[in-house]
Amino acid sequence: MRDGTGLGFCSGRSPWLGPHVWSRCAAVWADVQRRLAGAAPAEKSIKHIKIETLLSQKDTLGDDQPESDFHARRHPLGPLSRLAQGTLDRLVLVHRLREVSAQLGFTRFEAVMPDTEGEPELDLDVERAPLSRDQTWLPATENRGEGIFLSFSGEAIAAWQRRPAVRRRSEQLMAGFDVWKGRKRIEDASFPGLPNILLQSLSHLLITTLSLDCGYSASALRERVHASSKSGYGILLYTSALGSEGSLGGLVEMGKNIGRLLDRALELGHLCSNDPVCAQHDPADPHEERFLPGAACHGCLLIAETSCERRNELLDRALVVPTVATPDAAFFDERA
Ligand SMILES: [Zn+2]
Repeated sequence: MRDGTGLGFCSGRSPWLGPHVWSRCAAVWADVQRRLAGAAPAEKSIKHIKIETLLSQKDTLGDDQPESDFHARRHPLGPLSRLAQGTLDRLVLVHRLREVSAQLGFTRFEAVMPDTEGEPELDLDVERAPLSRDQTWLPATENRGEGIFLSFSGEAIAAWQRRPAVRRRSEQLMAGFDVWKGRKRIEDASFPGLPNILLQSLSHLLITTLSLDCGYSASALRERVHASSKSGYGILLYTSALGSEGSLGGLVEMGKNIGRLLDRALELGHLCSNDPVCAQHDPADPHEERFLPGAACHGCLLIAETSCERRNELLDRALVVPTVATPDAAFFDERA
């Protein structure tokens, strides 16, 4: 793609090119022009590219072949309760996916914290130790599984963020985040934003519901959360565990009834066994020293650390559904 032949190929629209080939070609051509103008290449994280693929307008992605690494199909949302009407955009059932994990090193006490894109790291002054002094290879595992991808309406999320009660809740969570930054002596970390905390919290409720409903062990389910006003909002829940648990079609079957799954997850979020203490938690309270979570504890939102992509930090039930202490900041709220 870097040599001159690509330019001639892209410079005119050929009638035999399909729309997908043409759009790829146009993207390459736009990048070439950007580079010729002296701009840096537009770098995207792996997570960003993955979400863009799932958000693409195609109804079928990848090949439905036994040896295929990736195959996903768009599925109708089906009946949704009044609470969920207008919030969901699209449902994609991922029949096949492959996850490759490599161990790069290790830390003690504190883990290296990824940012919301999952790629660069927040500077927590944590140094990752290499696995060995002479490192020429890394241990890696390859797992195959299946998944459910849900994307959410950007307009619904923007309208929710404009509500005064949501802004007040945002200030409370940001106050806790600022105290946490001060304690850790971090200067350049930025608050990940309310949509990210909302989707992360909802994702945990969905994982717990799937585990209770269909018998998957919760630690066999994992998440990828993407929240960006430019590229979209989505949650990918997937099974990618060694063994057969993630490859028998159970998760995809559950995804076909997404309305019911979502209703059960929202019901789970209303009340925690630690309420009202859990719902009344103030993130900035110096006595509790739990500065990142809002209404979240082991009784409701916390899941296995290996399942959560952000180590169970920055979660809040009050952004998802009304709680006993914050009844008016929820995204899924009948009165809104
Ligand atoms: Zn709780």
